[in-house]
Amino acid sequence: MLKNKQNFRCSFCGRDKAETLLLIAGIDGHICETCVEQAVTIVEEELYQGKRNKKSKKESKTSTFKFPKNLTPKSIKTHLDQYVIGQDEAKKFLSVAVYNHYKRLNQKVTGDVEIEKSNILFVGNTGTGKTLMAKTIARMLNVPFAIVDATVFTQAGYVGEDVESMLSRLLQVCEYDTEAAARGIVYIDEIDKIARKSDNPSITRDVSGEGVQQAMLKMLEGTEVNVPPQGGRKHPEQKMLKVKTENILFICGGAFAGIEKHIGRRINTQVIGFKDKSVEEIDKDKLLQYISHQDLKSFGLIPELVGRLPVLTYLEPLDLSALKSILTEPKNSLVKQYEKLFEIEGIKLKFEEDALEFIAEKALEYKLGARGLRSICEAVMTNAMYELPSKKDVKEFVVTREYVTNELSHSRVTQQLRAA
Ligand code: ADP
Repeated sequence: MLKNKQNFRCSFCGRDKAETLLLIAGIDGHICETCVEQAVTIVEEELYQGKRNKKSKKESKTSTFKFPKNLTPKSIKTHLDQYVIGQDEAKKFLSVAVYNHYKRLNQKVTGDVEIEKSNILFVGNTGTGKTLMAKTIARMLNVPFAIVDATVFTQAGYVGEDVESMLSRLLQVCEYDTEAAARGIVYIDEIDKIARKSDNPSITRDVSGEGVQQAMLKMLEGTEVNVPPQGGRKHPEQKMLKVKTENILFICGGAFAGIEKHIGRRINTQVIGFKDKSVEEIDKDKLLQYISHQDLKSFGLIPELVGRLPVLTYLEPLDLSALKSILTEPKNSLVKQYEKLFEIEGIKLKFEEDALEFIAEKALEYKLGARGLRSICEAVMTNAMYELPSKKDVKEFVVTREYVTNELSHSRVTQQLRAA
């Protein structure tokens, strides 16, 4: 008689087949995917870790971080200019903060002046270049870089990930070289989503909001954190790795939807309080440029967290001309990428000006910042990319406004973007 499938269990952890993704059969037993992973970790640690650590220590020593010579805040900004369009204010703040951070890192500790860490907070709508800036700077400095999403974390002991596992991603990108990780950059996205839910702290525990903010404090400031190498709590027996966060640069980003209300209110109170004449010059449509740490507190970040993000800057919403430039100007702009793709097929691709303008107009309409550009371009180019490789006689392809209009009218992308 056939055995009931339900009876198969992992012989190591006892989980039922239904609870596993994969159950591998042996001669006289079974093993599930989780136990295989754990076994691999144990083997790595017991047999190879010693050697690997020695090697990585040696490598780390030889590759101790060298702050690139002749680097200045201005040259950092010039580098950012090649990839990020506009956002001058944010680029300037980031360049200075990064310069100081890595100078501090290279400085031998002498005297009693200790340069404090300058973690950064970017405030700006989605798709305005917050992640791109952090990524570009990490690539330039050749330091490990990880992007994490603040919304997946909870206070220790609750369902969700502990904040320490933010560093697991960093460890993973530098192959568990803890010394390299200790001078990396972590970009924490959606920091606004862990704002305190209400002003009344008592009713229910705010474990994914204020609780996470509390848990992040020590890590942002500088401490030694026990990091689960594989992240999460799925592998309770994994050996923790110690990572010092003192020299890790944390860059936080968030849209902070509605923060203008807090900025406006603060400015108005100041007007009443101080009768400040210059307040008349305030540009009411672009309140974000006046953002201050106080506004973040009114929004729901706890003062201790705000204090650990001393560099605060904003990213402007991208207008039509910025979106158009993003299509063509950055070193790896979308248009350059498509040109390259077509060039490989032996086809010269050309976008007409008003075709680019139309794509930018559509992206503006969907309010997704530059994020919408890629989806729109894909929708516009898919048919051409499908047809042209089999038409050997075509040597040139010109994208006109009519072509874009026509392709978009047949595509589902407009509905998808509208719904996003
Ligand atoms: P967010 O502000 O939401 O973090 P991202 O930095 O992830 O946005 O931007 C999404 C994509 O849009 C980037 O990969 C990049 O291609 C493009 N982009 C956004 N802003 C800019 C900008 N200012 N300059 C050039 N490209 C940009």
